[in-house]
Amino acid sequence: MASNELNRVPLEHRDTLGRFLVEHPVKLGRLATALGVKIKVSSLGAGVSGQISREDGGYVIRVNRNEARERQRFTIGHELAHFLLHRDVIDASPNGITDTVLYRSGEPERIEFEANRLAADIVMPMELVERELQEGFGGRITEASIEALANRFEVSKAAMEIRLSNFVAA
Ligand SMILES: [Zn+2]
Repeated sequence: MASNELNRVPLEHRDTLGRFLVEHPVKLGRLATALGVKIKVSSLGAGVSGQISREDGGYVIRVNRNEARERQRFTIGHELAHFLLHRDVIDASPNGITDTVLYRSGEPERIEFEANRLAADIVMPMELVERELQEGFGGRITEASIEALANRFEVSKAAMEIRLSNFVAA
């Protein structure tokens, strides 16, 4: 049931990631720390949701302080996905990767699709979402169950709705 992206996470990070995908809301700050990535809530330009760059031999994610918390969480997931999948791309640019509100960075679209899919795996782990939906709502996807799950995972309703539609299709 794991996505292609989840299967592509480097072995050295897979256990660490797995340890954090077992409870909701996923503790993104601690996950980042465990991966050796710093998170800074920052003043970014309007239209920029987040960025990740190499600094002082480590990696730093900046997330736009003016965006909603749920949005920031998805952005952190997206930037962590870049860290896990696209380190070469980050390292190849002095400024790393900067993502607009549409999660476009000027890098190939494939890279952004991959980061969005892995971000969803990180902030809304499929097995956990499935279990919550089954145990709490008999597997029924309704306005109420979407909202409740969005609250539990601290993501937007829109993000959870997309996640659940993937789940039905899977
Ligand atoms: Zn991106």
